[in-house]
Amino acid sequence: MKYIGAHVSASGGVENAPVNANMIGAKAFAFFTKNQRQWSSNPLTKSNILTFAKNCERFGYQSFQILPHDSYLINLGHPETEPLEKSRNSFLDEIKRCEELGLDRLNFHPGSHLNQIGIEECLKRIAESINIVLEKTSGVTAVIENTAGQGTNLGHTFEQLGFIIDHVEDKSRVGVCIDTCHAFTAGYDLKSEAGIIKTFETFEELVGFRYLKGMHLNDSKKEFATRVDRHDNLGKGFIGEEVFNYIMKDKRFDDMPLILETPDESFWEEEIRKLYSLE
Ligand SMILES: [Zn+2]
Ligand SMILES: [Zn+2]
Repeated sequence: MKYIGAHVSASGGVENAPVNANMIGAKAFAFFTKNQRQWSSNPLTKSNILTFAKNCERFGYQSFQILPHDSYLINLGHPETEPLEKSRNSFLDEIKRCEELGLDRLNFHPGSHLNQIGIEECLKRIAESINIVLEKTSGVTAVIENTAGQGTNLGHTFEQLGFIIDHVEDKSRVGVCIDTCHAFTAGYDLKSEAGIIKTFETFEELVGFRYLKGMHLNDSKKEFATRVDRHDNLGKGFIGEEVFNYIMKDKRFDDMPLILETPDESFWEEEIRKLYSLE
């Protein structure tokens, strides 16, 4: 079964995310468990946690339909010791918040080398960060998102995602989320039918669908292989609609959160309905 939703607002408290998701007819959702642009946030209260669980139950969301996203400040591959420590602590806090909310996965961007260390060294650092945090927690899978490769961001090739996974000790708690906009601008053809088939064949070969724990469904405001991360609403950008049709008809994308991060949220309800009509 397909579970489509969007990255909804949790403003006023995490318990509002399932309510906001339900309002747009979503069967899945993403949200931030804390302010994504600040290092520190208040801990979740008992009331946040209980009401979140109650609302998820009321609107029919189980953990495999929910893909929380971590803060944009975290860089698990940071070349310098102090900011690396800060990132690892913050990531640990994020995973613990997921544990408290009874969630089973956390989506994050791998990290950036900032031109201070080599690519391989940075990827190893990212894997080490994941190892450290997984060892201190339980029940939550670290879900690495592919990036557009903007600036010095790593994780823009399937080889790099595969490399990180290879260096993670507990393979049962690491996964990936593929963002269609990021993949396209990173240089994976998701526009032509042949390109789409080839892209997911390459993904199977270098990462493996067994690691796929979610998808971000976005069109792109930027052209193919520009390595710029600018999402667009479905059918409005350079990718076009073919790939979304392909995903909706392919069983390898069943039973995981398929999340819209398209910029104009007034289209979300319509985009969800449209995607379901392609099944
Ligand atoms: Zn992301
Ligand atoms: Zn994304």
